[in-house]
Amino acid sequence: MRRKKTDMPQAAPARRAARKRPPQPCITLADYYMGRDRLYPQELTPELAANARRMVERANALLQRAGLRRAVNSGWRPAAINAAVKNAAKNSRHLHCLAIDIDDDDGALDAWCMAHPEVLEELGLWLEHPSATPRWCHLQIVQYGSWAPGKPRYFFP
Ligand SMILES: [Zn+2]
Repeated sequence: MRRKKTDMPQAAPARRAARKRPPQPCITLADYYMGRDRLYPQELTPELAANARRMVERANALLQRAGLRRAVNSGWRPAAINAAVKNAAKNSRHLHCLAIDIDDDDGALDAWCMAHPEVLEELGLWLEHPSATPRWCHLQIVQYGSWAPGKPRYFFP
């Protein structure tokens, strides 16, 4: 015989509460350092460590807003690492823990960022134009050289 809905076990509210807990951060500081904090400890100044924390915090906030879970493609680059990265800018923001590359094989994150400049503004992020980042999404927490309020949040390398 079918039970009435009111006879059902009352587990639903607890489950609902669990769902409301903020999601685990997608990207950790360790993900961002990629083991290079142990290989190049002398280069990781307190200033760079503070930048890295801010970068990871904003990247996670963005992923949460976009509803995407993604991994780090490239995080902090000590000088020797950056020099070995093909096509890396000599003065790359990655050197100073001010930029992150996030995996974006399908381009969904890049597309979301282009469609939501107001979120980039709110979070304090700038985006390298998707045409220059085919399988990743480059975000940085400092403005690009010629940026001024009202200008696009994206830039071309
Ligand atoms: Zn990058």
